[in-house]
Amino acid sequence: MSFAERVDAALHDPLLKTAIDRATGTAQAKRAAAIAAFPSFEPARRRAAAIKDHVIANLGAYLAAFEANAQAAGAAVHWARTADEACAIVIDICKKADAKRVARSKSMLGEEIGLPHALEAADITRVETDLAEHIIQLAHERPSHIIWPALHKTREQVADLFRASHRSPQNEDTIPAMAASARRQLREDMLSADVGISGANFLIADTGAVCTVTNEGNAELSLVPPRVHIVTAGIEKVVPSMRHATHLLRLLARSATGAALTQYTTFYAGPRRPGDREGPEEMHIVLVDNGRTRMRDEGLAEMLRCIRCGACMNHCVVFRQIGGHAYGGTYPGPMGAVLTPALDGLAGAKDLPNACTLNGKCREVCPVDIPLPTLLRGWREKSWREGLEPVTMRRGLGLWAWAAKRPALYRLGTRVAIAALRRFGRRGWIARLPLASGWTDGRDFPRPEAGSFMARYRKGER
Ligand code: SF4
Repeated sequence: MSFAERVDAALHDPLLKTAIDRATGTAQAKRAAAIAAFPSFEPARRRAAAIKDHVIANLGAYLAAFEANAQAAGAAVHWARTADEACAIVIDICKKADAKRVARSKSMLGEEIGLPHALEAADITRVETDLAEHIIQLAHERPSHIIWPALHKTREQVADLFRASHRSPQNEDTIPAMAASARRQLREDMLSADVGISGANFLIADTGAVCTVTNEGNAELSLVPPRVHIVTAGIEKVVPSMRHATHLLRLLARSATGAALTQYTTFYAGPRRPGDREGPEEMHIVLVDNGRTRMRDEGLAEMLRCIRCGACMNHCVVFRQIGGHAYGGTYPGPMGAVLTPALDGLAGAKDLPNACTLNGKCREVCPVDIPLPTLLRGWREKSWREGLEPVTMRRGLGLWAWAAKRPALYRLGTRVAIAALRRFGRRGWIARLPLASGWTDGRDFPRPEAGSFMARYRKGER
C-alpha cells in the first residue's frame, strides 16, 4: 500500500482513533506532570544533548573502550555493518547453542533489522516477553509505537485476542485478570527458553555493561535463566560511563511514561562468573551500524541523539490521527519520518517528511533537543533536489514561484482564485472542489474571506 492508502485506511478505522487518544492522552498528561515536577528539565536536556553529541563525535573511541571492557567482563563482541549481517550473527549463535526456543525482550533495533522474521526463517521458536509485543505476536501484526507497540489496540480487542489464544485465558475482562492470563502464558515459555535476546538502552563504555529498562521485569526473566544472552544494539547507544547513563535515564523515563524511573533498570556485565547463583553461560553483544555511520557523516548526526522515548509521537498532531502503522517503517511519528528515509532510502519514504505541519511540538518535548522539524525540512529539500516529487507538484510549485516573483500578477491571480473559490462556498465552508477532491473528500475547506490579507492590510483593517 502507498502512504496515502495506509493513511486512508487508518482514518477510516473508528477504533484506532479511540485507542490512540486513550494512550497518547494519558502519556501527554503524565509527561507534563513529571516535567513540571522536574524544574531543571531545560538544563538537563541541554546536558543530555551535549553528552550524545560528544559521544557521536568520538564514536570510534567509545566503541573501542566498550568492546575492550565487555570482553574483559567475559562477553563476546560482534560487529555488524548491515541488518542482514546482524541477523546472520544472531542466528549463528543460536544454532551453535542448539537453540529451539528464544525469549525476546522488546527491542526496536530487533524490529529494524528484521530479527523476528530471521528467527522464524531459521525455524527457531520466538517468544515475545514484553506484554505489548506478546499482543502484537498473537495478532500477527507489527508494533505501532516504540514504547507501546500495541497502542493501536483497545483493551476490548486485547481481551478477545487473549480469550482466543491463551492456554488458560481470563474469566473476566479486567486489566488485572488479563495481565494474569498473559503472565500464566508467558512465564512457562520464558523459563524454558534456550537463548534470551534483548536490545540495549545504553552501552556503558568504561565498564562494558549493557543497560536495559522495562516496566514488567520481562527482560530479567527472559535473559537470566537461558544458557545464552544475546544483545543487539545500535552503535549510537554507547555512553562514556554510568554517570552519563543515569543522567539520560532520568530524562528517558519521564519523557516516555512520566515516571521518575522505569520499574526495572538492569546493568548486565558479562555472563555468569564462578560463584554466581544464576546468569547465562555465554553473553554475546552484536553492535549494529545499519546506516548510522552514514547518517552521522551525511548531516543527520543530531538524529543519533535519540534515546527512543516516544514523546515526539505522543505529541504529534499527525501521529495522533493516523497511528504508527501508516508510516510504513519500523519507526513511526516525527522521529520515524526522519529515520525511515535514512534507513530505507528516500525514494520509498519521501511522503513521510511531508506528513508534518512543522508546528515544532516534537522538538519542544524531545529530551535530547533533536531539531526534528529542521531535519524533516532537510529531507524535503533533498527530495526536491533529486526530482522525487510528482511532475504535477513540481510544475505547480514552479508556476507558483514564477508568479510569486511578479507582485502585480500574483495579486491578480489571488483575486481571481478568491472569487472562484467563494463561488463554491456554502455557509462558510466548501464541501466539494473540482480538481481538488483529494482534499474535500475527507474534509471541508473554509470559504476564503472576500479580500486577500494584503488588500485588507492596505485598507488599514486590523
Ligand atoms: S526523537 Fe526525541 S522525543 Fe522522539 S523518540 Fe527520540 S528522543 Fe524521544
